[in-house]
Amino acid sequence: MNNPDHTIESLSLRIARGETTVRAVTDAALDAAEKLNDTLNAFLQIDRAGATRRADELSAPQSVGDAPRALVGVPIAVKDNICVRGLQASCGSRILANYHPPYDATVIERLSAAGAVIIGKTNCDEFAMGSSNENSAFGPVRNPWDTARVPGGSSGGSAATVAARIVPVALGSETGGSVRQPASLCGIVGVKPTYGRVSRYGLVAFGSSLDQVSVFGLTVRDAAAVLGVIAGRDPHDATTADVPVPDYAAELDTEGARGARIGVPRALFGDGLDDEVRRSVEQSIEAYRDLGAEIVDVELPHAKYSIAVYYIIATAEASANLARFDGVRYGHRTEEARTLSEMYRRTRDEGFGAEVKRRIMLGTYVLSSGYYDAYYRKAQQVRTLIKKDFLDALAQCDAILTPTTPTPAFLLGEKTDDPLAMYLSDIYTCTANLAGIPGIAVPCGLSSTGLPIGFQLLGRHWGEATLFRLAHAYERAQPFTARPPLIATSED
Ligand code: GLN
Repeated sequence: MNNPDHTIESLSLRIARGETTVRAVTDAALDAAEKLNDTLNAFLQIDRAGATRRADELSAPQSVGDAPRALVGVPIAVKDNICVRGLQASCGSRILANYHPPYDATVIERLSAAGAVIIGKTNCDEFAMGSSNENSAFGPVRNPWDTARVPGGSSGGSAATVAARIVPVALGSETGGSVRQPASLCGIVGVKPTYGRVSRYGLVAFGSSLDQVSVFGLTVRDAAAVLGVIAGRDPHDATTADVPVPDYAAELDTEGARGARIGVPRALFGDGLDDEVRRSVEQSIEAYRDLGAEIVDVELPHAKYSIAVYYIIATAEASANLARFDGVRYGHRTEEARTLSEMYRRTRDEGFGAEVKRRIMLGTYVLSSGYYDAYYRKAQQVRTLIKKDFLDALAQCDAILTPTTPTPAFLLGEKTDDPLAMYLSDIYTCTANLAGIPGIAVPCGLSSTGLPIGFQLLGRHWGEATLFRLAHAYERAQPFTARPPLIATSED
């Protein structure tokens, strides 16, 4: 567990006891955000005026009959591809640099109704495409554990704000691991819900059959509390399911890991897995054994195709979703065009960065009539097999445990010239998005160079409560107490 002073639990308790106020908590988060942003570049917008106004409203006495609110005064940071009325939503792209959505995403409405205070919008890879945050048009985010290294991506800004103790929780989005991967590289918890668990209304689309708003927290309990608030059916998103949302946080303390069956797909622990990551994840498996869980071998025979399948389906969907950015409806429009088609072309050329262009080209290629069957259709077929692998494996166990990332955080610039090497850092995470199942990344140790390492648990559709319970049992037994050097010194 991380420093308890920064958890929702302790903030709420201190506010309730009158030891601090919502306004003081908000001011502290804003001060930390401003102070650290020169170093981390984690925020694209810090909303001091809006956040303090909101804090003051929340400090006013509640009306009689008001329902108790779960997140009163909890400062929260939001990835810049999620719409918050009045704030920017650049998605890390020049094409939307000046876009201010006129409405709140459903997740934002729900967080606000629960009393959370949004302190700003976080930096991310352009349109959530990336694994290192180096694809942002507004410069990379830096990892609080080592500012020469990447925080992971694409939700790296949100991960860094939680790791740096600016906020206890933050929202990111996942299409292929963009919350679990940076959570792991930044030493925090990241949870990706079942597809259809959380509304995508107001989340700027990347790969619509894969996208889910996802949550970062310092602790499992905090991530569970936030997911409980944002989850559930939304009439604005027809892909949300009408499945009851359990009280995740309340269920944490039941049963622990005793008697649980944890599946380990050994075949995935092979080439490319860093030795220290392997050792640390093996120790986590032993920790579960000590907690009374039964460890079973499982197989995911088609998982080896996941990167290929993911980068076909995600780019195909992206090429269709990004067609809307044409200089007519939103954002940037070129100043130098004589004809309509020249306006489209120049707008998109000026507005999109290299990775987004690469994905649009790949996506239109795999969807083109001559190649559709060979690539897109085949990828959809293999996607079905990958999902079936998970259903079969999860029929034999309660959760599957794997590393979250093959290596700890890499250096800025290390993979920017080699997109394939970059794509490979998603090897453990993108399978869950393809299968639509939930996953949680949990920090489990430090490398010899002081960088965080994490494992992930993957579970059955709608089975987030089981994942939270198992992750919480581990966290209680093996608390991850290390703090990034950047903030450890300033706090002591
Ligand atoms: N790294 C993956 C990609 O670049 C995942 C992105 C995401 O989950 N948003 O597509």
